[in-house]
Amino acid sequence: MMPALFIGHGSPMNAIEETEFSRVWVELGRSLPRPKAIVCISAHWETIGSQITAMEQPRTIHDFYGFPQALFNVGYPASGSLILAKQIQQIIGTTDSILNYDWGLDHGCWSVLCQMFPNADIPVIQLSLDRKKSALSHYELGKSLRRLRSGGILIIGSGNIVHNLAKMNWSDNALEWAVDFNNHIKQLIVASDHPSIINYEKMGAVSKLAVPSAEHFLPLLYILGLQSNNEHIRFFNDKVTFGTISMLSLQLGTV
Ligand code: ZN
Repeated sequence: MMPALFIGHGSPMNAIEETEFSRVWVELGRSLPRPKAIVCISAHWETIGSQITAMEQPRTIHDFYGFPQALFNVGYPASGSLILAKQIQQIIGTTDSILNYDWGLDHGCWSVLCQMFPNADIPVIQLSLDRKKSALSHYELGKSLRRLRSGGILIIGSGNIVHNLAKMNWSDNALEWAVDFNNHIKQLIVASDHPSIINYEKMGAVSKLAVPSAEHFLPLLYILGLQSNNEHIRFFNDKVTFGTISMLSLQLGTV
């Protein structure tokens, strides 16, 4: 069974800088069994209805502004996989999903992969976040993808458990509510209390601060959906950066 990952991706600069976070990504790439292919569910691709990248050669999307040219120069030339895209479309259902030939790999995906698998020699596809789905439906969709893991497919959810750009600061002092929410979600993950995580909006004011919009939180639900009974979880990069961006990440399953 291939492990599955939720990665807190944070700043795109982690793609080109050696940081405390990117160092762990490099190490992960070395320690995981080599995947046959990678499916990435990134916070940065939201659509109406599910979409799955199906092109032979996905482009590298530089979907950010105000960063150094060096970051815009990064390309991640991994191939796609039409076979895997079709397999996922079968799982989701052809009425609820379409194959996409325009997107590519956004920075939620490649900023992590270029550190984990710098040779870009493993096929990568992306599955979009369907804006129309409820949090529970995202979780259930994650569940339905479980069988891919036994076929050597690495599934990565890429987002941030706490992600509030409006309140971030450059002093890197973690705000109290951000740490509290981060730790609370971590405890719920340890307790396998997935229903409470799915219903994070019911946690009140703190959830509105930590998750002002759902897209960076939802990839976590896919990875929790992939967890089989009592499957081991390893946390890493457990730190809140820029005041309000939690890098907390987890690996399901052992190698
Ligand atoms: Zn992001």
